[in-house]
Amino acid sequence: MRLVMLAPPGAGKGTQADILARRHGVPHVETGDLLRRAIEEETPTGREARQYVESGNLVPDKIVVELIRQRLDEPDCDPGFILDGFPRTIQQANATEGMLRDLDCVLDAVVTLEVSRQEIVRRLEARRVCSECGATYHLEHDPPEQTGTCDRCGSELVQREDDRPETILQRLSQYEEKTEPLLGFYRERDLLVTVDGEQPIDAVTDAIEEEIAGRVDGISQTGDEG
Ligand code: AMP
Repeated sequence: MRLVMLAPPGAGKGTQADILARRHGVPHVETGDLLRRAIEEETPTGREARQYVESGNLVPDKIVVELIRQRLDEPDCDPGFILDGFPRTIQQANATEGMLRDLDCVLDAVVTLEVSRQEIVRRLEARRVCSECGATYHLEHDPPEQTGTCDRCGSELVQREDDRPETILQRLSQYEEKTEPLLGFYRERDLLVTVDGEQPIDAVTDAIEEEIAGRVDGISQTGDEG
């Protein structure tokens, strides 16, 4: 399975990518996460990327393309992958086509989740993430059992620096300006599938599975093979 999740920040693409990756046994490759780790570890890439991530701007294409090229070269990506947060610009989408050609494979589908701007702002402001394992929670809809503590690993939950209100608006405008044009790019290539992202998490997953059935090897179109 080779999928791209393409949606605004806060639409639930990380949550869905995580579920699908576990279910189909492929890695969930998230550029935001790779960049946050690089920033925390103060690698040369991290030092270059920090100012962009913290201000809600996109990191230059050259940096993220190289990060993804190295990640897709790792052996766990041989059976497939779910790309979350990449590509985000037309230049990155063109680079992706080149990388896949080099790896002698193609994308099965590009999934976009439709969520209103108002709902996105509500979700991002209430999002908390685990400082250790990256698990995400929503203060209202998906709170941890114990306030401020991760259910999975017991570490502290924090608000991402870029989930603060002023930065959220900047991230949304970057999405609209630079990433939304990719919907047309993938529609033209007959790869785009659109799912209502305002449904409950399970319903969104079911809708994605239904939409990609028949496009991905090994998923039954009728869903009656278990
Ligand atoms: P995310 O966790 O996907 O919301 O990404 C957090 C931040 O990382 C974004 O606001 C950007 O600054 C940066 N970032 C993640 N993916 C990309 C990408 N494909 N291209 C450029 N910047 C990115």
